[in-house]
Amino acid sequence: MEKSNFQLSFDNCKLIIDVVRKDIKNIHLAVYPPTGRVRIAAPLKVNDDAIRLFAISKLGWIKRNQRKFEGQERIAPREYKQRESHYFQGRRYLLNIIETDKTQKVILKNKKFIELHIKPDTPTAKRHEILTEWYRAQLKKQIPAIIEKWEKVLKVKVADWQVKQMKTKWGSCNIEKKRIWLNLELAKKPEHCLEYIIVHEMVHLLERHHNERFLYHMDTYLPNWRQLKTELNKLPVSHADWGY
Ligand SMILES: [Zn+2]
Repeated sequence: MEKSNFQLSFDNCKLIIDVVRKDIKNIHLAVYPPTGRVRIAAPLKVNDDAIRLFAISKLGWIKRNQRKFEGQERIAPREYKQRESHYFQGRRYLLNIIETDKTQKVILKNKKFIELHIKPDTPTAKRHEILTEWYRAQLKKQIPAIIEKWEKVLKVKVADWQVKQMKTKWGSCNIEKKRIWLNLELAKKPEHCLEYIIVHEMVHLLERHHNERFLYHMDTYLPNWRQLKTELNKLPVSHADWGY
């Protein structure tokens, strides 16, 4: 499989398309949540110009599908102001800003508030940083028990795991190093969604590719994984095939 990357520019906006060439008959186009990433899988014999023309001819469809994710997936950038909504483990909380001269910290209150204790006039970027580090610490507390549970079930060993801010993926797995990376955003999602991603990445230790065998493992060990995937991505994956 050969991977490359296309950049198409239209009216000052850049569209980046991941292109993979495979031994397939037809060209496939898909837009993936949560960010609207575009991927084209093309037969080996189709050249770059033909792929470019194909992408241009489907531009309307691509934009329409990307907008779907924007509307439903993205919330406006947070300003870290009083009573602003923030999600934690799948539940909505209201931010309660408490000004302090002492240690800056984050505390959950009454299953309703995230208290952000900060120095007066803390800039937005710093508020973001404090809350982000809190999310990271909380997620890191959740992960070990889930990995341990699934190591026993799947009979695999995870050598190392890390939490990272990722733009296009919920998780990834380095099979050789038996290392799993998990998206920091998962701290905001229900724990069963976090568990689904961990299981998915750990199943890669049994099977590298998303093939029949991989699906068989997922269906066996986590039969409702499709539901969890849909819940996590809010929308089903948009996908369309065209004969070329
Ligand atoms: Zn995977």
